[in-house]
Amino acid sequence: MSVATGFEALYGAAPDGVWAAPGRVNLIGEYTDFNDGFVLPLALPHTTVAAVSRRADGVLRLHSADADGGVVQLALDALEPLSGGWAAYPAGVAWALREAGHAIGGADVHLASTVPTGAGLSSSAALEVVTALALNDLFGLGLTRPELARIAQRAENAFVGVPCGIMDQMASACAQEGHALHLDTRDLSHRQVPFQLAAEGLELLVVDTRVKHALGDGAYAERRAGCEAGARALGVRALRDVDLAHLPAALGRLDGTTLRYVRHVVSDNDRVVRTIALLDAGATREIGPLLTEGHASLRDDLRVSCPELDLVVETANAAGALGARMTGGGFGGSAVVLVDADRAAGVAAAVRSAFADAGYAEPGVFPAVPSAGARRL
Ligand code: ADP
Ligand code: MG
Repeated sequence: MSVATGFEALYGAAPDGVWAAPGRVNLIGEYTDFNDGFVLPLALPHTTVAAVSRRADGVLRLHSADADGGVVQLALDALEPLSGGWAAYPAGVAWALREAGHAIGGADVHLASTVPTGAGLSSSAALEVVTALALNDLFGLGLTRPELARIAQRAENAFVGVPCGIMDQMASACAQEGHALHLDTRDLSHRQVPFQLAAEGLELLVVDTRVKHALGDGAYAERRAGCEAGARALGVRALRDVDLAHLPAALGRLDGTTLRYVRHVVSDNDRVVRTIALLDAGATREIGPLLTEGHASLRDDLRVSCPELDLVVETANAAGALGARMTGGGFGGSAVVLVDADRAAGVAAAVRSAFADAGYAEPGVFPAVPSAGARRL
């Protein structure tokens, strides 16, 4: 059943429109987005699709084909942050729009998604961005894509209660087919970087370890606080203001956890810059070593990897991949593997068999085709 048909079965009339927003994988630049740094995500072909009609009575009715519990009905005037449940994501978007002074009258929403949830592929941002774009269009708000991404981030930070950066929402809102998005998280300036895998005989595999990350737990907030402490100790506004040339001197003024966190953020920010230079030069296969270096930094300095992610990277590289790294918040979730297309099946098989040998659940493996950002269908 299409999402529009599902909407009609549920609410008794055709929707005013249907919108889609994708999940994403980040090619490189991890834990840089709350340090005003650079990231390089791409949108996946997997999307969250929402059929939506406007209402004029201040009522929000929310339904997901992927969640139990039927229709959630809320009054816009009574929305309370941190109310819990999946509906907090779309309700949080409505709340954040109103907080920012935008008049919306209510809506009926039915959605369904092909983005795996809790896999580090940003099903949460897809859900927020599709809601924000639909409400923007239906109520003629005229917000830009970066403005919608900010609204979506505010919904997740303040309403759902997850202290995420801006990367996921910007990727879902602004990505273009065949490109990765070079995003400067300080001012949200961004550029589409050509990322043509097929033309160069390459594939970027996503390996979902099936280990559920829980960004809500303390580890993410602890890394974030540690990075802020590092910036304060170095007297900079954010770690993005420490360039690689000055890193050795900066590290001499730090110790312990803070030193490791700063070393990761500053070096990964630089890896984004070097990756983009290679992509602009048409040298896509040469980014492989940067991916693997980035993984080592996340594993050893930031310490946000886990045995399953490390096994993907080690096994893929040993089986002939060009490079690999965990992607997203870590502690589970997914890894990306850059590989020659003719070796992709062999690398995927090697990872599956290493997981079986280790007694881990079978991982999900699929190619990341750089796809379009949010749109009205
Ligand atoms: P990720 O963004 O990596 O997938 P998160 O924990 O940030 O993981 O977000 C996952 C949560 O988002 C789910 O637990 C659910 O509450 C909500 N969510 C995402 N997609 C859907 C959907 N299609 N239907 C209902 N809830 C969803
Ligand atoms: Mg998320």
